[in-house]
Amino acid sequence: MTEAPRKPKADSCPICRKPAQPAFAPFCSARCADIDLGRWLSDRYVIPAEDEEADAPQGGNERENGSDR
Ligand SMILES: [Zn+2]
Repeated sequence: MTEAPRKPKADSCPICRKPAQPAFAPFCSARCADIDLGRWLSDRYVIPAEDEEADAPQGGNERENGSDR
């Protein structure tokens, strides 16, 4: 009975699902690593921008009689 302990093999590249390379683990290549890094960075950079005109100060926006006729 040759049952080797199930140890997790090299994970698949999360980008292209190819077997990851130790040099680029957990990716298969520098390109995929770069892609993931880019995603990660862009994800970090996703900062909720301040809403423009979120609270429009209403008060000085009165219409002067626009009912003409
Ligand atoms: Zn890949």
